[in-house]
Amino acid sequence: MSRFLPPRPWLALAALLILLVAAGPVPVAAQTRKQSIRYLDLNKVRYLYLKDVARFYGMNCHTADKQTVLSSRYSRLVLEQDSRLFQLNGVKANLSFPIAKKGSDMLLAQTDFQDFIDPILRPATIPKRKVRHIMLDPGHGGKDTGAISAKVAEKNINLLLSRRIAAILRKRGYKVTMTRTSDQTLTLQQRVAAMKKYQPDLFLSIHCNALDNSSAKGIETYIANPAGTPSSGGNVFAKKAAPGNAFNRENALLASLLQNQLLAASKAVDCGIKRKQFYVIREVSCPAALLELGFLSNAEERQLLLQSMYQDKLSVAVCDAVQKFEQTLAPVQK
Ligand SMILES: [Zn+2]
Repeated sequence: MSRFLPPRPWLALAALLILLVAAGPVPVAAQTRKQSIRYLDLNKVRYLYLKDVARFYGMNCHTADKQTVLSSRYSRLVLEQDSRLFQLNGVKANLSFPIAKKGSDMLLAQTDFQDFIDPILRPATIPKRKVRHIMLDPGHGGKDTGAISAKVAEKNINLLLSRRIAAILRKRGYKVTMTRTSDQTLTLQQRVAAMKKYQPDLFLSIHCNALDNSSAKGIETYIANPAGTPSSGGNVFAKKAAPGNAFNRENALLASLLQNQLLAASKAVDCGIKRKQFYVIREVSCPAALLELGFLSNAEERQLLLQSMYQDKLSVAVCDAVQKFEQTLAPVQK
């Protein structure tokens, strides 16, 4: 176990990262018990003491049995010992590593703090960037139908939704480019090539889900998992950083805004924020998310996805999230 001095809230995040990953001891004079986040390594994963993380944010920390709740006036995190599933402000999300326990202390993996929770709780620490040009990627197309359920092909719903999202974004003043505007076959490589050619500020891949289990329904948002961490719900580790991993912190905020807006607008089941190295979100060099906007294999959700009103609700929600993301990261006008 070691102790480090995390920054005061007004210091830049860089300072935090340097301090947390620094190998050597921090000068004793610089430390105070109140400000330090202790860490320890378990199974080659660096963990932080949850109690200290809570104190860092000025949040209350309450553990009862396996559950730890961090709460403040603004945010609430519900974490479960030995589990990768947690809740952040009412939305389900996946940690890279399960909450661990040492003695009576609960521990949170440093990457989950640094690359996921912290940018959502303190978006002001994400570097400012301009988000004006959005690239929409309607999943599948042409010969690649995507899922087909009761004669409804995913590729068509993806295109329909993407067109609605594009129209609303353009009305709100954004520049929008689409990887396809018709029923066209596109490889994943061609989609990423389009991104490289047009250099958007943000990339959103639009999909719908399908499963053999027809009772499964709900909405989920995917972003790329950081290097050295497993995909959500699985154990496929990202061995090295992909271009998309340069935006882990931006992506965390983006996913949280998207999933929040989509659930509020649709009242759909929360399938959570997940992290997986899908090719299109892994290989693009801008903030990116892949949305699964509902299950075509579920009769009820399929009917909704075919309704113009519901399509509008989802599209407006995506645009609201994009707009919040843009406003949060907007460079300060001088
Ligand atoms: Zn798909």
